[in-house]
Amino acid sequence: MYKGAEKAAGGLQAGRPRRLLVIPLPDGKMVIISLYFKWGELTSKLMDESTLFSLLVDLHKGGERQGPGGSEQTLMALKLSGINPASRLAVADIGCGTGASTRVLAENLVNAHITAVDLFPEFLQVLADSACAVGYSDRVSPLAGSMESLPFDDQSLDLIWSEGAIYNMGFGKGVEAWRRLLRPGGVLAVSEITWLRPDPPDQIRQYWEAEYAEIGTAAEKIAVLEGAGYDLLGHFILPPSCWIENYYQPTEARIDDFLQRHADQPQAQQLIEMERQEAAMYEKWQSVYGYGFYVARKRQVNLRGEK
Ligand code: SAH
Repeated sequence: MYKGAEKAAGGLQAGRPRRLLVIPLPDGKMVIISLYFKWGELTSKLMDESTLFSLLVDLHKGGERQGPGGSEQTLMALKLSGINPASRLAVADIGCGTGASTRVLAENLVNAHITAVDLFPEFLQVLADSACAVGYSDRVSPLAGSMESLPFDDQSLDLIWSEGAIYNMGFGKGVEAWRRLLRPGGVLAVSEITWLRPDPPDQIRQYWEAEYAEIGTAAEKIAVLEGAGYDLLGHFILPPSCWIENYYQPTEARIDDFLQRHADQPQAQQLIEMERQEAAMYEKWQSVYGYGFYVARKRQVNLRGEK
């Protein structure tokens, strides 16, 4: 629990308009993203996008993870997939960050080849260094690019993994677009922000509706998956430790050093205030929202008869 967390949470204004961030890719395409929900609150008066991104990457690249999750939960989802760990598999870990889930997949799927995709090369560099250090760099290929224009052939993947990242393109759009990349019977494992009860209080509901209107209950997320041509294999909710102990506390522990590195940039302090507000928000509302982990198998044909 952060000092002053309650005060920070109380000070949040619900329902501010979401601000999308646009970045150009080397191939000339533009990508619109908002990485973490509260980042949408930064206004251009506070900082320009390149400053924001370089600060965000610098704060988060030293972290084990860039969002809520845990190795145990990655393993649980892997179990739900029913995949034989010894089989030869083509896997993509989308929005992998510095590779917390990629490592668990590489350790447990011993004959898999994993393409680890993220928008930020700096995160992928950390991932590649650690894959090298533990000796599975031959089975992990980092790929810098957008989850919205993935370069895989249709039906070429056995498993698509994505923890805490699909909201960048939207759950519905993501599960729909990624489906064609899976071979028939291939598996999608994805974590997504989820209401833990059907009647969230107004303050938090308005906040999320402005930030990510696709937030829904597990039943709604499962219905989206089924509608897009998947059969659910299982789902579960990440415990608060995945947020607090695995993500917010380690981030907090890096903040002093981060602020020292950026002592000349007032934007660094502003970013930290946002980070702390996000943590305080979760502290306050952890019984109302969380991350659901959904594991589903591609049906032979979807409702439109597409493979
Ligand atoms: N899966 C990691 C990181 C989650 S944070 C973990 O659980 O720790 C979300 C990640 O998505 C970040 O690493 C961010 O760089 C990446 N990301 C954001 N927008 C993206 C996009 N359009 N395409 C690919 N990756 C993106």
